[in-house]
Amino acid sequence: MQKAHPLQLRSVFRFELQVTCPETGARAGVLHTAHGDVPTPVFMPVGTQATVKGILARDLLNDLDAKIILGNTYHLYLRPGHETIRKLGGLHRFMAWPRAVLTDSGGFQVFSLDSLRKVTEEGVLFRSHLNGDSHMFTPESTLDVQMALGSDIMMVLDECLAYPASHEAARASTERTLRWARAAYAHYRSRANGSQACFPIVQGSMYADLRRHCTEQLLELDADGYAIGGLSVGEPRALSLEMTETVAPLLPASRPRYVMGVGMPDELPEYVARGIDMMDCVLPSRNARNGYLFTRSGRVIVKQAQYKDDPRPVDETCNCYTCKNFSRAYLRHLFLASEISYATLATLHNLRVYLDIMGEIRQAILVGRFPAYLRSRRAASVTE
Ligand SMILES: [Zn+2]
Repeated sequence: MQKAHPLQLRSVFRFELQVTCPETGARAGVLHTAHGDVPTPVFMPVGTQATVKGILARDLLNDLDAKIILGNTYHLYLRPGHETIRKLGGLHRFMAWPRAVLTDSGGFQVFSLDSLRKVTEEGVLFRSHLNGDSHMFTPESTLDVQMALGSDIMMVLDECLAYPASHEAARASTERTLRWARAAYAHYRSRANGSQACFPIVQGSMYADLRRHCTEQLLELDADGYAIGGLSVGEPRALSLEMTETVAPLLPASRPRYVMGVGMPDELPEYVARGIDMMDCVLPSRNARNGYLFTRSGRVIVKQAQYKDDPRPVDETCNCYTCKNFSRAYLRHLFLASEISYATLATLHNLRVYLDIMGEIRQAILVGRFPAYLRSRRAASVTE
């Protein structure tokens, strides 16, 4: 078991907890990374293939002022290849993104893209969705890929179970995830240069006893941060929150907590209220491209005829480039004409909504008003 380790491993990555809401346990803090500080709680836009689909790194930096984005190890490993990216100076240089990057382990894609061939004790055997070639991800190899990419936060390989799963299947899978996490962490400790952090992932399907067991075992790694995975896989929303409530209080207050793959805008304060610091989701960018725009007063389905002559911005309270310059009627026109600029303008707006919500949440926590903020968001989401 990994326990004591040299302090210099954490010389760059550090989590600073600033304020904890005494009523809810919501936290405000700062992730210090080799590529800048990230105020938390934070929503991380998803940049699957070394780009956030539809928008430029320049817009992510200047317009959105995002501090951290996510990259997908599975996709970058297959194309263009992590060694290619390493030769070109690492992922930050490759995609001209000077701020922090978190990469997943690749496991989620392997389990969700029907590319899975076999799970063994050693790792997962899968088929490329690009050309059918066989590949193997092991706890060690996915970290090697992420080290080549040079991400600031790396994730360990875990097994992502479909929902629902039997307790027996979930127990066996959780034990495998734990063995992989120990192997990955040993590899990480032996290779770490202090510039990259590494988070293990709590699994356990929708069983509180397995979630608790997995958490307690992972605590022995004394990890840089902890993720809660295996949520948003089709289970009822109340159950995802319940699993988060089970796990979060067991995690050390001094480490960041990341719930993977959530959620809708009104879910963000709910996870924060359960002590979560980091979230990511493809919803804002994917929905934007599909014509689904988020606003403070409900959704705008941009293709609807009601917006044909609508001169108003998508959201009158939004300060994004899209809302400051363009009407719903114009966006509807671009969408129906399949113009590429539609995806750019829509994605800019939806990501702005998510980042603004997190900014408001953080501010509310800092000034001691988060419980009131949470109540007002809940009241608003009921009426939407
Ligand atoms: Zn906007």
